Amino acid sequence: MAQIFDPKPIAVPGFEFEERIIKAAAEAESLCRESFEEIDETAAFNSEKVLRAFINNKVSAACLSGTTGYGYGDIGRDTLDKVFAETFRAEDALVRSTIASGTAALTTALFGVLRPGDKIVSLTGDPYDTLEEVIGIRGSGSGSLADFGIAYDKVEMTPDGNPKVGEIFQKVKGAKVAYIQRSRGYSLRPSLTVGQVAEIIKAAKGAEPDCIVMVDNCYGEFAEKAEPTQVGADLAIGSLIKNPGGGIAHSGGYIAGKAELVELCAGRMTAPGVGREAGATFDENRSLYQGLFLAPEVTANALKTAVFTTRIMDLFGYEVYPSPSEKRGDIITSVVLGSEGALIAFCKGLQKGSPIDSFVSPEPWDMPGYDSQVIMAAGTFNNGASIELSADGPLRDPYAVYIQGGLTYTSGKLGVMCALQEMYDKGELKLFR
Ligand SMILES: *Cc1c(COP(=O)(O)O)cnc(C)c1O
Repeated sequence: MAQIFDPKPIAVPGFEFEERIIKAAAEAESLCRESFEEIDETAAFNSEKVLRAFINNKVSAACLSGTTGYGYGDIGRDTLDKVFAETFRAEDALVRSTIASGTAALTTALFGVLRPGDKIVSLTGDPYDTLEEVIGIRGSGSGSLADFGIAYDKVEMTPDGNPKVGEIFQKVKGAKVAYIQRSRGYSLRPSLTVGQVAEIIKAAKGAEPDCIVMVDNCYGEFAEKAEPTQVGADLAIGSLIKNPGGGIAHSGGYIAGKAELVELCAGRMTAPGVGREAGATFDENRSLYQGLFLAPEVTANALKTAVFTTRIMDLFGYEVYPSPSEKRGDIITSVVLGSEGALIAFCKGLQKGSPIDSFVSPEPWDMPGYDSQVIMAAGTFNNGASIELSADGPLRDPYAVYIQGGLTYTSGKLGVMCALQEMYDKGELKLFR
């Protein structure tokens, strides 16, 4: 047992590692070098892009304070929208801490642009779990798109997780919205690169030139040098407690894209006719600006944590998605752990390495909307923020754990090592070497 950095550490339970875990971590890290260089280069590119947008839009000290009540004339809010739009090379954006979540941002956009009798087609198979109830393909359907007479169809992906371009052509004809989910979400399919998103958009626009291409951009922001809005997406939508909030935003979501569509979304967000003119920001402007400013570097730390995780789990003989050398479109890693005991130990160990609530032990629970129990580990500064190191997985075969986040690479790496140590202590770690 040993510590990895501190020569005279204070004993911390759960924070002492088996020699072979330390050795594997060092080996994994050396295999990461090339990927890390690439990640740093992308982060530098995106950080410059963000800084230029701050300067170009004259972000001032006055922008950092907020408003109350109706929030009319909130210069911080209105300037942030412009900074965000410029960063995404979009015509316009809405960035609000008051949008409750990624799902709420996506819902605002869907109800903003769809009308009764319209059709929405998902081009990337089933959408993210929470969107099923919004569309009306699961749950009571009350208040869903289906309830408002909006039809839904989907194009399944191929078994290896690629979009079916031929089928896109048939199904998008006549659709108002063509919907693309960039990230894997909670499935083992690969996330899409921006290049793949571009190809899908081309196919959709080829079939129906007037369709609105909407991209669920969650977990993808700043993972590459371009965003979907730069390759033809009409709207890109995401959560501020993921990548673009930089770990600093306390809550919120964004919608970026074509000006006329963003305007429709603004009408839905507050009220038709009121739109973006209202919406107090309280004391949140500062955290949203600072979060966006840090987001490219924080996303890089999460990406490094993700690459390290795939390398070390691969060394211990686990099946990992994406494979360590694959190009990444998001910050999520899934590892097939193969048993309930291993999944529970991984999550409990990761929790032990968290800065907040390290002493709390996560337990599997019956999460609404899931047909099996789910275990979640997250010791985060912002509740549920998955740009911070977190892991979760449903207790069912193949017992895959989904890991994402890491505000700093060191804390991300140590958290994953704690997960491995707990697996070792519980006799659940494969030790073939
Ligand atoms: C996180 C996420 C969402 C939105 O989830 P919230 O928990 O509501 O923020 C939607 N789609 C994908 C792919 C996501 O990863």
